[in-house]
Amino acid sequence: MLPSPASPRLLIDRDALVANWRLLAAMSGAAACGAAIKADGYGIGAAETLATLAAAGCRDFFVAQWSEVAALGPLPAGVSVAVLHGIQHGEMATARASAARPVLCTPAQVAAWAAAGGGTCDIMVDTGMNRLGLTPAQAASGLLDGIAVDTLHSHLACADEPAHPLNARQCADFTALVTQLRPCRAALANSAGIALGADYHFGLTRPGLGLYGGQPVTGSTLALQQVVRIEAGVVQVRDVEAGASIGYGATFVAPRAMRIAVLGLGYADGYRRALGASGVARIGGRPCPVVGRISMDLLMVDATGTSVAEGDRVDVDFDLAAAAAASDIAQYELLTGLGQRYSRCWT
Ligand SMILES: *Cc1c(COP(=O)(O)O)cnc(C)c1O
Repeated sequence: MLPSPASPRLLIDRDALVANWRLLAAMSGAAACGAAIKADGYGIGAAETLATLAAAGCRDFFVAQWSEVAALGPLPAGVSVAVLHGIQHGEMATARASAARPVLCTPAQVAAWAAAGGGTCDIMVDTGMNRLGLTPAQAASGLLDGIAVDTLHSHLACADEPAHPLNARQCADFTALVTQLRPCRAALANSAGIALGADYHFGLTRPGLGLYGGQPVTGSTLALQQVVRIEAGVVQVRDVEAGASIGYGATFVAPRAMRIAVLGLGYADGYRRALGASGVARIGGRPCPVVGRISMDLLMVDATGTSVAEGDRVDVDFDLAAAAAASDIAQYELLTGLGQRYSRCWT
């Protein structure tokens, strides 16, 4: 079925995505720069993201689950995908048949991989986040003897806070392990980790958020470009008089006569209610603030003084860092929450 003419669109800027990868690759120095494309490329589309970045020279991609590998379709030559959750119970046959490498996370996963015939895999070591991975002691215990490790990974818990002491501790512990185990490659840094400097780069980096235009480091700005724009359809235009209330709860009362544009965009599209206080649509270049509560499928903006008409399409501001700061919702949640009702248009 065709999307409704009033369905919202995500306009995804291919050149900005590539520029962001190139910036993060340059910041990664001598290390190769990969791309985290889990959760459908943070909501913008994993297969398109992979095709776009592979054409720009990216060779290493990361997803969380095997179902995400299947959704990518055939991989371009020279491109590898690693599955960050490793091999869960019942997934061995899928993993063995897949072109992707597992990132094995537990002693049981390592043993099962070896018993199933082994082959090239990645290993995740937990150096202080206490999420996924072997402990450094397990990794150094001989457990990996005879295992063909492509990349040894660890993941930083606090990279977005450069002054946090856990960063240096994780880096030192990981460096010691890499020195001992000598894997083909090692990888520690996500987007924010890349900004921590050369000690954190090893042979490969794994940025996600920064590729998609998010600002990875709290309180600093990198020259990353906005990748995702929201465009919404105008479902109805109405003129209201001073004193009229607008939307659920009648929380907004018009201080004067107003022209209201009702847009086909709501919290079911991931345009969360908390964005209402700072939300702005651009109509004919003019900023039109959201008024009243955001509904599930609709929101209202003050379009007074514009020549907005039903059926128009208008831009709704979606600068990730600004939206996160104003709403207290993480940039990651804003991106991955965008939902299925958009047409995703790569430009
Ligand atoms: C998601 C993820 C990344 C990417 O992190 P960003 O903060 O989005 O750059 C890197 N490594 C691992 C293990 C991840 O789970």
